[in-house]
Amino acid sequence: MALRRIRQYGDDILKKKSKPVVKFDETLHNLLDDMWETMHEFDGLGMAAPQVGVLRRAIILETEEEQYELINPVIVETDGQDVKTEACLSVPNKQGDVERPMFVKVEAYDRHENPVTIATDDDMLVTALCHEIDHLDGILFIEKATNIQPRPTDEEVAESNKRIKGNPRRALKILNNKDNKKDNKKVAARA
Ligand SMILES: [Zn+2]
Repeated sequence: MALRRIRQYGDDILKKKSKPVVKFDETLHNLLDDMWETMHEFDGLGMAAPQVGVLRRAIILETEEEQYELINPVIVETDGQDVKTEACLSVPNKQGDVERPMFVKVEAYDRHENPVTIATDDDMLVTALCHEIDHLDGILFIEKATNIQPRPTDEEVAESNKRIKGNPRRALKILNNKDNKKDNKKVAARA
């Protein structure tokens, strides 16, 4: 495994549409392994292949319970509407509110080309799925977002971790909710 460079806002590759994965081979497996390593290094909760400069339809997501690798994901059903706070590894130090469904059903494949279906109304997972699949179509959350604000810096998060101790992601969420008193159900996924 190896760390890959995360492409940042302004890089044209982030605006391009990714192509479907055709070969579920070692190249794909290496890409996915590197994406996990890179995402964890930068404390992300999700990542799409174009964020490391590869225009292929592959995303990874992590919740507290589960890890997902989704190849050629397609949203086949949505329901409801909600506004969620999001952030992105490719758009440092910014967060904003984006309108997303409350429920999504996604069909995809795993790295061995087995079909996978996810149907969920979990806030974080719905947001992350929509956010990552948008990346595959060259869309960044910041282009859809309202109420764009500076995001707490890593130093602020580290400081908060020292005080809270325990899961750094939980600390991040607490920090975020503190800044967002309107609706403490909102969760910012840095994805
Ligand atoms: Zn993103």
